[in-house]
Amino acid sequence: MENLSVIKGLGPKSIAHLNNLNIYNISDLVNYYPYKHNLIVLDDIKNCADKQNVIIECIVDSVPLTRRFRANMSSLTFRAVSNRKMIAVMIFNRVFLKTHLKPGTYITVIGKYDALKNTVIASDIKFERLKTGSIESVYHLTSGVTSKQLKKYINEALSFYDNYVDYIPNYLNEKYGFISKKEAVNLIHNPQNESDVKKSLLKLKYEELFEFMFKINYLKEINKASKTEYIRNVDINEINDFIRSLPFELTADQNKAIKDIYDDMTSDKRMNRLLQGDVGSGKTIVSVIAAYINHLSKHQTALMAPTEVLAVQHYETIKNTLASTNIRVELLIGSMKKKEKDDITEKLKDGKIDFIIGTHALLSDNVEFKNLGLVITDEQHRFGVNQRALLRNKGLLPDTLYMSATPIPRTFALTIYGDMDISNIKTKPKGRKDIKTIVKSEKEMIEVYEMIKNEIDNHHQVYVVSPLIEDSEVSDLTTVNEIKRNIDLYFKGSVKSAIMHGKLSKNDKDKIMNDFKEGKTDILISTTVIEVGIDVKNATMMVIHDAGMFGLATLHQLRGRIGRNSYDSTCILIGDKNNSRLKVMCESNDGFYITEKDFEMRGEGDLFGVKQSGDMTFKVANIKSDFKILLQARDDVKEFIKSKDYLNYDCYNDFVKSLESID
Ligand code: ADP
Ligand code: MG
Repeated sequence: MENLSVIKGLGPKSIAHLNNLNIYNISDLVNYYPYKHNLIVLDDIKNCADKQNVIIECIVDSVPLTRRFRANMSSLTFRAVSNRKMIAVMIFNRVFLKTHLKPGTYITVIGKYDALKNTVIASDIKFERLKTGSIESVYHLTSGVTSKQLKKYINEALSFYDNYVDYIPNYLNEKYGFISKKEAVNLIHNPQNESDVKKSLLKLKYEELFEFMFKINYLKEINKASKTEYIRNVDINEINDFIRSLPFELTADQNKAIKDIYDDMTSDKRMNRLLQGDVGSGKTIVSVIAAYINHLSKHQTALMAPTEVLAVQHYETIKNTLASTNIRVELLIGSMKKKEKDDITEKLKDGKIDFIIGTHALLSDNVEFKNLGLVITDEQHRFGVNQRALLRNKGLLPDTLYMSATPIPRTFALTIYGDMDISNIKTKPKGRKDIKTIVKSEKEMIEVYEMIKNEIDNHHQVYVVSPLIEDSEVSDLTTVNEIKRNIDLYFKGSVKSAIMHGKLSKNDKDKIMNDFKEGKTDILISTTVIEVGIDVKNATMMVIHDAGMFGLATLHQLRGRIGRNSYDSTCILIGDKNNSRLKVMCESNDGFYITEKDFEMRGEGDLFGVKQSGDMTFKVANIKSDFKILLQARDDVKEFIKSKDYLNYDCYNDFVKSLESID
């Protein structure tokens, strides 16, 4: 793989920044696609309404004034003429632009118009004259890399790179008249018009879905043949005794799921089951009973959680639940000391641990099992394909159980998971109350603060969620820092609040999370990093800022952090009362219903939807809005596998070979 340092101007520092975007070599760089394209339509400032988002062309008319305030904030303000109208332009935290903003310079300003002050609050200033009808590629960025730099690096890489791999077989490229991979990649970065974007996206989406469906269906083919080499022999009375010993009665759907699992596990086929159920519906105990069945037939169980925080939480509850049994439960996570880890891996290999809980690092090379019989995966859809491939590589073919709190409609599930069986938990444990959900506008924040105050006075805790982290340069979304300032201002130090976001170190995150768990903080202000499955029973209120920016699935997931007890809980969505997704949220607490609605609306305005919630991490495709392409790809894949044509393609041979030699 070609090294990034061949690009002009890319030193170790910039390379480290690019690494943060998962760009490690030239190929990664070339394949780092924009997440959206903006069609540029220049506005005429004379026709702009108050608070309107605008893109205007103007000429700088005065030397910018710098103002500094708070710890590290600054602003630049200058006069400009746009279409013969004089306006003011203000931009935050871009003092470095000052030298470029000489009077007489042509610029394009992107921002929001404040009619009262006759000022455009700019989110971006470009020194090129964008034309109406031109297209701008927009990339996910990280601190230290500007969009201009990234584009420069990508374009330089494109100028010499020639190692394109096309996962679409030739005959399908011909059949659909797709453009070449090289052309598609070049166009997605630098489209001249909308038709370029369309052509390129169609090719890349189909390719991505075709490759995905190939892996799913290929595994399905070889798994069909695979039987278990042991027949489990378990005494159903022992399982029932254990269930009776639990501190609560299982719900009807939990019992049904356990029956499904028992039937799978005691058959001669491998279990490959998806357990879907809302947050709080009690999936964990079902998986623990699966582990119990597995233990009774003398096999080891591994449970994998998407994050360490969740792994630890699972470990604590499960160890507790199994305390009365002789099942030896242990935890294995990356942040443990090497000696501890070595000790655990040794014991796993020797069969001295029955039930291991950790992140998916559990499947890494140095972890060996004596007799792994069951793998449980919590909250990570996409995991499926790679995980099964990985297990096969290790020569292991255990029963598998996937747990998900983001139910997806049956037709989608069957397409995406191919061969999986599904159990749904729809009934809630007894005594669980619905979360009351309301929408408030930004103008009603005082009222919201009073509600927060009331909750804290009653010794409960509150989550406040915002979509972004820093005082953002590119958007006027409410940010965690701003929220913290406002809260501190309003409560004048009478409540304790803390900030949580993805850029904090692991230690800081853990400390903040633990303080909140232990009730040392009243308000946790956070981006969406508060994890799925986090269990703080005393938290009874959640305020979600800019709620309209989130997809339904994400909103529902977030809301699931509260209402984990018999207290009344309230979720306050800050946003537009007419927003259709927010209405759905107020209407229902039922994840199955919400997901149906979500799929009906097909990701409308969904900035943080499926992609970000980690269930389906495609680069360009979206399983909701591209479902038709997915179905076509599925049918084409079936032909492709049947004809064994994949043997003619290196990219598929590698995958196929990696799975051979096992059966
Ligand atoms: P999730 O499906 O989100 O993973 P959990 O398994 O974490 O939900 O369960 C949420 C809480 O409900 C846990 O504290 C668990 O002990 C409890 N619980 C699970 N099943 C029942 C039940 N049948 N009756 C009462 N409480 C239950
Ligand atoms: Mg859970």
